[in-house]
Amino acid sequence: MTTSVPFLDLDAAYLELRPEIDAAVGEVLASGRYLLGAQTEAFETEFAAACSAAHCVTVGSGCDALELSLTALGVGPGDEVVVPAHTFIATWLAVSRCGARPVPVEPSPGSYLVDLEAVEAAITPRTAAILAVHLYGEVADLTALRRVADRHGLALVEDAAQSTGARGRDGAVVGSGSTAAAFSFYPGKNLGALGDGGAVVTDDDELARRVRLLRNYGSVAKYAHEVRGTNSRLDEIQAAVLRSKLPLLDAWNARRSAIAALYLDRLEEATGVRVPPHDQGDSAWHLFVIRCDDRTTLQGELTRHGVETLVHYPTPVHLSPAYADHGYRPGSFPRAERLADEVLSLPIGPHLALPTAELVAELVAELAAQH
Ligand SMILES: *Cc1c(COP(=O)(O)O)cnc(C)c1O
Repeated sequence: MTTSVPFLDLDAAYLELRPEIDAAVGEVLASGRYLLGAQTEAFETEFAAACSAAHCVTVGSGCDALELSLTALGVGPGDEVVVPAHTFIATWLAVSRCGARPVPVEPSPGSYLVDLEAVEAAITPRTAAILAVHLYGEVADLTALRRVADRHGLALVEDAAQSTGARGRDGAVVGSGSTAAAFSFYPGKNLGALGDGGAVVTDDDELARRVRLLRNYGSVAKYAHEVRGTNSRLDEIQAAVLRSKLPLLDAWNARRSAIAALYLDRLEEATGVRVPPHDQGDSAWHLFVIRCDDRTTLQGELTRHGVETLVHYPTPVHLSPAYADHGYRPGSFPRAERLADEVLSLPIGPHLALPTAELVAELVAELAAQH
């Protein structure tokens, strides 16, 4: 292959909507209102509706959305929160930042999502919440997780950063009927801003009110500080950009889905690689992650052929220096460690042409079979 295939074509999303986005941003610039104004309010209404939820409260990032959800639920020092061992570090950091301890659990065999029995086994008298992650866009089994949470009287919070617009096995869109679901609008996510942003989506009036307080110094009315909050706000420009993009979310996710279907078809029988599990609802296909017998060689050869791939994530969180003080070592979570060694993310996104994805799939099948 002579062409070069980027992992994700971010400017293409802007270019598809350039007139709308430019006009929307121009209006904000001329409005003189740059925070907590009409754009933020309108986006919150529209995003809550897209998630079939009663409330959306926008915040500064996905990490903040997780932290403020947990804090609003009363999770704090002395508490434990069950988290996946295999996830992006932000899941754990949100728990640590609200003063609680992340308690990792292994993925189930052959899957990227948590093992339900491991979740149950990780619960102690100190557990306050279960943090479910819809990793790579695949929706976790919320019905089963809610059953476990209810049985032990725990909150169930969703890390939906990678699953905007995805649907679970019951057909329900991610964020609907949830205690709290945290979304990220980081530029590379399925619904991306032109900078950082996030949101908490919930059906719980009181929880929404608390997050609304926490994101703005603990106040709704200026200088009336009910709690010790923080500063974590989406700005009006990002809200306007997200409003321009939101109507396209489903169509963009459908394009991701078409690429995933092609990859699944071409790579299902390939030697040397395994396709991701794909039997649970409608994944948002944020990432298309294969497992490789020899990832280093395959990734190197794909790079030489002009195909950019990424690894999500090369170091398991429990072995990263950031969590050295938690006392884990290699072997603590062998399944998560094995995934870190084997996973490889192929190019996917709403602006990757199907014929290009076809070439990528052929190349992966051909190269993987050689080792
Ligand atoms: C991106 C991401 C986050 C954090 O979102 P930010 O907006 O970058 O803070 C949290 N969890 C997961 C699984 C993510 O992929």
